[in-house]
Amino acid sequence: MKELTVISGKGGTGKTTIAAAFASLAESAVIADCDVDASDMHLILKPEIIETMDFTGLKVASIDEIICTGCGICRDACKFDAISNDIRIDVYACEGCGVCAYVCPEGAISLIERKAGYACNSETRFGPMAHARLGIAEEASGLLVAVVRENARKLAEKYDRNLVLIDGPPGTGCSLIASIKGVDLVLAVTEPSVSGIHDLERILGVASHFNIPAMVCINKYDINEKNSRVIEEYCKEHGIELAGKLPYDDTPTKAMMQEMTVIEYSDGEFSKMVKGLWENIKKKLDG
Ligand code: SF4
Ligand code: SF4
Repeated sequence: MKELTVISGKGGTGKTTIAAAFASLAESAVIADCDVDASDMHLILKPEIIETMDFTGLKVASIDEIICTGCGICRDACKFDAISNDIRIDVYACEGCGVCAYVCPEGAISLIERKAGYACNSETRFGPMAHARLGIAEEASGLLVAVVRENARKLAEKYDRNLVLIDGPPGTGCSLIASIKGVDLVLAVTEPSVSGIHDLERILGVASHFNIPAMVCINKYDINEKNSRVIEEYCKEHGIELAGKLPYDDTPTKAMMQEMTVIEYSDGEFSKMVKGLWENIKKKLDG
């Protein structure tokens, strides 16, 4: 079983359009939506949830008010200012480090699991899908991404699928690392803007750090052909293959409004180019 992650340095580069199109082109894939904070993938793929699992993430301190004497030792020891003067825990500030429980002379504090979101296994018209949602203000997105990837692997084994197609999170944080670590190939989608080039260099740097082969797709290459050439030069210099270039086109927007992938929406020029991109990715994965 192979794993491919589609990533971009920031949202709005066309990453999900491309990942959703790949979902409709791949013949035997499980889809893993690892953008656990704000994904659009479900708007196109319309997953029908089969199974939901609570995600507990980090632990949080809990004080037994009957045992507590109000001495304040825990409040003074907490480096995250998560304990108020009247000895109450701010669950959003608590990092679950356990220091307060360690210093409490009465044994009044314990660490309990806190529900921080949920993970789901679903069915889509293109096959099984693992996805998740992190609760508002929760920060354990890297852990939840790892849960989604593990669920996707299990679905691939269960349904004998030979590819896990991962829609990665935007940005370069720990959730990006969790979504690319150990995969067979990363496709970095970028736009030819100055910030796009900067973001691309950063995400390719992360992939290279973990020794993960990467390919690049320049989306809307024709809005700034000079910058597109800069990206192509960068790829050449660093031995990174260009998987394809896509022009500016309104097909993705129209397809999204119809809740379709670009492949389903049209067999026009843009969709043909996305198919060409997919063929290049497949060749690399199979090679
Ligand atoms: S250290 Fe223990 S006893 Fe003292 S205020 Fe904190 S919870 Fe209460
Ligand atoms: S577990 Fe750590 S962060 Fe949370 S209240 Fe206790 S000392 Fe503060």
